[in-house]
Amino acid sequence: MTKLGWNFDNSYARLPKSFFTTQNPTPVNSPKLVVLNVPLAESLGLDAKALQSEENTEVFAGNKIPVGASPLAQAYAGHQFGHFTMLGDGRAILIGEQITPQGDRVDVQLKGPGRTAYSRGGDGRAALGPMLREYIISEAMHALGIPTTRSLAVVTTGETIIRETLLPGAILTRIAASHIRVGTFQYAAGKGDVDDLQALADYTIKRHYPNIEGEENRYLALLQEVVKRQAALIAKWQLVGFIHGVMNTDNMTISGETIDYGPCAFMDQYDPSTVFSSIDREGRYAYANQPYIGGWNLARFAETLLPLLHENQEQAVQLAQETISQFTNLYQTNWLKGMRSKLGIFNEGEQDESLFEELLNLMHKYQVDYTNTFRSLTFAQYDDKKLFEKPEFLQWKERWQARLGSQKETEEESNRLMQNSNPAVIPRNHRVEEALEAAVTQGDYSVMNKLLQVLSNPYAHNPEQEEYCTLPEPSIRPYQTFCGT
Ligand code: AMP
Ligand code: MG
Repeated sequence: MTKLGWNFDNSYARLPKSFFTTQNPTPVNSPKLVVLNVPLAESLGLDAKALQSEENTEVFAGNKIPVGASPLAQAYAGHQFGHFTMLGDGRAILIGEQITPQGDRVDVQLKGPGRTAYSRGGDGRAALGPMLREYIISEAMHALGIPTTRSLAVVTTGETIIRETLLPGAILTRIAASHIRVGTFQYAAGKGDVDDLQALADYTIKRHYPNIEGEENRYLALLQEVVKRQAALIAKWQLVGFIHGVMNTDNMTISGETIDYGPCAFMDQYDPSTVFSSIDREGRYAYANQPYIGGWNLARFAETLLPLLHENQEQAVQLAQETISQFTNLYQTNWLKGMRSKLGIFNEGEQDESLFEELLNLMHKYQVDYTNTFRSLTFAQYDDKKLFEKPEFLQWKERWQARLGSQKETEEESNRLMQNSNPAVIPRNHRVEEALEAAVTQGDYSVMNKLLQVLSNPYAHNPEQEEYCTLPEPSIRPYQTFCGT
């Protein structure tokens, strides 16, 4: 271990050579640390204070490689908007795997470190705005209790990058359980080397699912585990109104963490067809489609495993199909469980699903805010006339109250459950934009730091959060997000 606490062991570099290309970051002019995630650094065993010195910041810029690190760019493929493509880390480099004081193994990756073997026509660089955006939203997701990659630091590079306009360059240090994606398996399967595919599958099982190592058919168990984790993950997204925006198979992890915060955003007004991403013209990745796309991506994952599932390919297909067909039910079970909590319900009731659907239909019909509606129900604050004075809602409320009355838990217990399940704050788009604007154009990070602080405890329901619950002024154009590549 180094003085700063870096403690690398690079198991990915021991996979067959086809899975990566050894590659150092390209040094930058004048790096400057603009955000450091102190609690995260400490949990990784790093000396957060020392990391802030100019000399040690060089690591986050790729100018200095910490002792024990072994930088590489990962190969992967992916279905992008349904079309299969060879991809790879075109603007990311895995520095190494940090072994934390708790014994966990996490990837330390630089996003925006310069060109790699997979950059194709790109410059391998990233702009400050999108990197800060990933920092804010990934940390908000973590605080909401949703599995996600984390953000350790952002440095500006002192260099300008060329997009539609000239933008300040930056590098994000991303921490992940791993960067193994559905697309990594697609890459292995696409090459057609079953030994390499098996090496990847065994590596993944050892790293993420050691509990299934001894199973008779461990590759089938791997598929089952990933299906379970993704069903749980996507249900969590739906429950908070998170729209990923670019659920390509290269952006779906095998660990079950949310990854790749490009054009993602949170929904304000409840509308299942919400799409924010400017490039998603057909709404493939709209809010209501996310569970279906999750299932579709997992079917692509299952296809890659066929040679390992059974020696008889017909039987392999059958095993894969049986497993994939469980996704919808698993997702629905997770979602119902989450909805019950959001409405203070402890046990399962036959009519629950219709109770939830009815509420959502009313929210859609009367165009009310998703997060704030649940917050109002939590605190019995029914001042918003848009929905709460409608006879249909009053009828629904009676039904809900009767449902709550039918369980043994007290009103107070239900209330506590609701407070812990309904966030007061989410990273609302206008707040995120406001923070980015101040940081990027004026170098003023105070707005962002305040926002990060409020988002770090979304279930606190304290007065400080109040002003972050207000909705944006109605605007002529709907909010749009961009990939930021
Ligand atoms: P993403 O939209 O971030 O999932 O990226 C899709 C693919 O494009 C990945 O293979 C990226 O590595 C690559 N890519 C994105 N931006 C750049 C860039 N500036 N330079 C090189 N490759 C890039
Ligand atoms: Mg990606």
